[in-house]
Amino acid sequence: MLPVITLIGRPNVGKSTLFNRLTRTRDALVADFPGLTRDRQYGVGRIGPGPYVVVDTGGIGTAAEGVEALMERQVQLAIDEADHLLFLVDTKDGCTPEDMEIAQRLRRLGKPISLVVNKSDTMDPLLAVADFHQLGLDEPNAVSATQGLGVRDLIEHVFSRLPDSASPDTEQELSGIKVAVVGRPNAGKSTLINRLLGEERLVTFDSPGTTRDSIFIPFERLESRYTLIDTAGLRRRARVQDVIEKFSVIKTLQAIEAANVVILVIDAHAGIGEQDATLAGHIIESGRALVVAINKWDGMDPEQRNQVRAQFSRKLAFLDFAKLHLVSALHGSGVGLLLDEVDGAYANATRNLATPELTRLLEAAVMEHQPPLVKGRRIKLRYAHQGGRNPPVIVIHGNQTDAVPETYRRYLINRFRKELNLSGTPLRLEFKSGA
Ligand code: GDP
Ligand code: GDP
Repeated sequence: MLPVITLIGRPNVGKSTLFNRLTRTRDALVADFPGLTRDRQYGVGRIGPGPYVVVDTGGIGTAAEGVEALMERQVQLAIDEADHLLFLVDTKDGCTPEDMEIAQRLRRLGKPISLVVNKSDTMDPLLAVADFHQLGLDEPNAVSATQGLGVRDLIEHVFSRLPDSASPDTEQELSGIKVAVVGRPNAGKSTLINRLLGEERLVTFDSPGTTRDSIFIPFERLESRYTLIDTAGLRRRARVQDVIEKFSVIKTLQAIEAANVVILVIDAHAGIGEQDATLAGHIIESGRALVVAINKWDGMDPEQRNQVRAQFSRKLAFLDFAKLHLVSALHGSGVGLLLDEVDGAYANATRNLATPELTRLLEAAVMEHQPPLVKGRRIKLRYAHQGGRNPPVIVIHGNQTDAVPETYRRYLINRFRKELNLSGTPLRLEFKSGA
């Protein structure tokens, strides 16, 4: 599973700026489910040696709440889930009494911590860090979150200190198609997983000897093998009443990243909310294949069903490549077919695309609709080949490809998708300019 790197520090030291820099997203998955505090952000960081989950804990030790807030339960949960803590301080403020207090508390946790001296663009980095040695943490890392200075080095440093268990070496042991079932709390994930596995499976799985943290559940159907990645805290379910403990954004992001195919479960009764859209955005960004399960379809009248369909195509229009699948996890209707969709999405996501066919499709697309002129010269797109699978990547070679407008990129993606019948998976284009 992806390692978890958690940002801590006083307000205004630059946590959310660093978060945005690491995740390169403005659309962070903010935990605004009922019962969760609003100000924590989660994203997948892609700067550095490998992907990781980044958590911005928000207002730790705010002046209003005092440093005591550090021990607040929410923050404690975030820290518990972290593999590595980044403690941010602000070189413009120097080392403050609050920094001292936070450092003292963090040291007691016994977690790996890196001290990050931010805003070091405002002075000589050597001077910037000098004041912070008194915090008694390891060598300070000077960075500038706004300019991106020192950020890659920082993440490399963090990776060099991650325990081996946090690296994804379980990969080989997992067999078949890896399927993550994700969705907001109460969407019906646990019920669906129960259905998919059948009750007996769970009993076996619950037996003593299986480790509590094992969230990979292998199973077979017909001739196919799958590994379900559980985000719902299935086995602890009986004991856990609390939505906060049952649902983990971190586990959700980790599961998406570890999967080949994601099943996004949406609660038809609750309608499609902002969180569904944000989750969908994360799935797209990860490049994983996607099957959408609209759950709780039972007991809805035709009018309500139409409303849900309309809402889906309006709010999640960018998921037009994924098939809508209507299920009732509770009654089991539609659930069998869901795995057929998973098979189909996986097959498309991993299909081999032949260079001559891709090039022919590119030529036809260009013929029908030419790319625009740039500074009086037409953008030339010459040939295409496959550059990756799950998600499929199509590499297009030509001239002035940097200038290909977003609308034209979209046109090509839609063309390729349609002609190649690539439903159920995001599709990526990369452009390369020749001499
Ligand atoms: P947070 O409260 O810790 O999340 O802090 P923010 O990310 O909101 O940053 C607070 C202020 O510091 C904003 O005005 C940022 O633009 C500024 N800031 C953040 N990082 C840097 C940096 O590396 N250099 C400079 N000069 N300003 C920064
Ligand atoms: P999770 O938090 O996503 O794991 O959601 P659960 O599986 O715990 O389900 C939340 C609630 O929705 C439970 O009370 C379920 O019985 C109910 N539920 C789940 N699937 C369905 C369904 O298909 N139809 C109906 N009517 N209720 C469902």
